[in-house]
Amino acid sequence: MTKKIFIKTFGCQMNEYDSNRIFDIVKKIGFFKTNDISEANCYLLNTCHIRDKAKEKVYHEIGRVRQVFGFKKKPIVIVAGCVAQAENQEMLKREPYIDMVIGPQTYHEINTRIEEFLNKQKKLEITDFDANLKFDYLKEIKNSSSKVSSFLTIQEGCDKFCHFCVVPFTRGPEYSRPFKEIIDEAKVLVENGAKEIILLGQNVNAYRYENYKLSDLIIEIEKLSEVSRIRYTTSHPRDMTDDLINIYKVSKKLMPLVHLPVQSGSDKILNLMNRKHTIDEYYKIYDKLKNINPKIKFSSDFIIGYPDEQDDNFQDTLNLIKNIDFINSFSFIFSPRPGTVASKLKLIDRKISLKRLELVQHELFNHQIKMNKSLENEVIDVLVENKSSKSTKFFGRSEYMTSVIFDANDEDVGKIVRVKIKNTNQNTLFGEKLQKSNLKVA
Ligand code: SF4
Repeated sequence: MTKKIFIKTFGCQMNEYDSNRIFDIVKKIGFFKTNDISEANCYLLNTCHIRDKAKEKVYHEIGRVRQVFGFKKKPIVIVAGCVAQAENQEMLKREPYIDMVIGPQTYHEINTRIEEFLNKQKKLEITDFDANLKFDYLKEIKNSSSKVSSFLTIQEGCDKFCHFCVVPFTRGPEYSRPFKEIIDEAKVLVENGAKEIILLGQNVNAYRYENYKLSDLIIEIEKLSEVSRIRYTTSHPRDMTDDLINIYKVSKKLMPLVHLPVQSGSDKILNLMNRKHTIDEYYKIYDKLKNINPKIKFSSDFIIGYPDEQDDNFQDTLNLIKNIDFINSFSFIFSPRPGTVASKLKLIDRKISLKRLELVQHELFNHQIKMNKSLENEVIDVLVENKSSKSTKFFGRSEYMTSVIFDANDEDVGKIVRVKIKNTNQNTLFGEKLQKSNLKVA
C-alpha cells in the first residue's frame, strides 16, 4: 500500500518551515505527500498557539477529519506544533481520534514513533525540549524546499518571557543552530532554486553561535551569488545591535523592510508586558536605520487593549504609528494565553478594545494605501515567485514584501524584473513587466 501523508499547517513561517522538514523526514520511511485528505493514511496537523481559540480550532479540525473518513479505516492522526506542546497528554484524553501528539522540538523522532505506533497501536505523546538533538538529526536530511523564496530556521525559542506570550513555554529556551550548518542548508536551498532566503527565528536577531551573530550570517549568505535577496524575521528591539544595523550600510541583498514588533507605544504598557525596552530606545533604532538608509521602512506588531491600557497609553500607540510610517503591520486585540502572566490580569472592556483596534487599523491601512498609491506609474524591482494557478498572471514581491501581480513570462520565474505599477489596492500592486528600458527604478 502506498503511504500518503496529508499535512495541514497553521500559523507562522516557522511552522511552514517545520512542516516541510517533517515531510523531508517521513519521506525516508516511504511517505508521499497528498493534497487529497481522503486518500491519506497519515494526517498531520501542525498547530499554532498564538491566536485566539487555538486549542478549539485544533479539535474542530480533527472533527472535520473524522467526518471525511466516516466509517472508513482512519489514518494515523498526529497533532504537532505549539498547541501539541502546550496541551500534550490532555489532547489524547479529550480527542480519542488523535493518535500522537508531537512537540516542535521533537518532530525529528516522527519516523520511529510512527513505526512504534503501527507496531503497538499505543497512543504517544512526545514533547521534550531538545532543539540540539532535532537539528543534529535534521542536518543529515536534505531540505527539499524548492521555492524561489525559501525559509531557513536559524534560531528557536525565547528567554525573554514577555508576559502575554506562550513561545517560551511551547518552543523552549533560546537555541541557535551552528553557523556552518545554516550556511550548508542555505547552499542546498540555492541548489534547489532559491533566490531569496528568509532567516527565521522567534528571536532571530538574538542569534548567537560561538562568536557569530545574525550579521555574520547575512554577510556569509550574501556571498552566494545565486541569492538575490535576504530577509530575517522576527526581531526584538533589544537585539537590534549596531553590527546588525550597520549591515544595512554595506549589504546589497538585505531588503530594506525591517519588521520590528513594538506591541505598544506606551512605556507603561511595555513595562507591564515585560518587553524590556522603552519607546525612546525604539525611536533610536529607527533613527539609526533611517540615517544609514533612508529607503528603509518599518513594519510591526501591535497588541491593542492590553490589561490596564488607559486612553492616554493608547494615544501613545497612535502617536507612534503616526510618527513612524509603518507598512504591512499586524494588529490584534489582546487575548490571554493560558499559563502566561498576562492571563491572570483583568481584561479591559471589549468594546473599548474594539474601538481602539479600529482606530489603529485605520491609521495602519492608510499608511499602506498611501505607500502603494505612491508607486502607481513607477517602476519597481520584483522577484518573480510563481505563475498564478488561477490566471495567466505572475506573482512576486517588492523589496518591501508587498504582493505584486503582473504580466510576465515563464522564464522570468526566479528573476528580479522591473515592473511598471498600474494599479494598487491596500495589499497588492498590479502592473506589467517592462522589457529592457531606460525607465528609472523607484
Ligand atoms: S520576545 Fe517574542 S517570542 Fe519571546 S516572549 Fe516576547 S513576544 Fe514571545
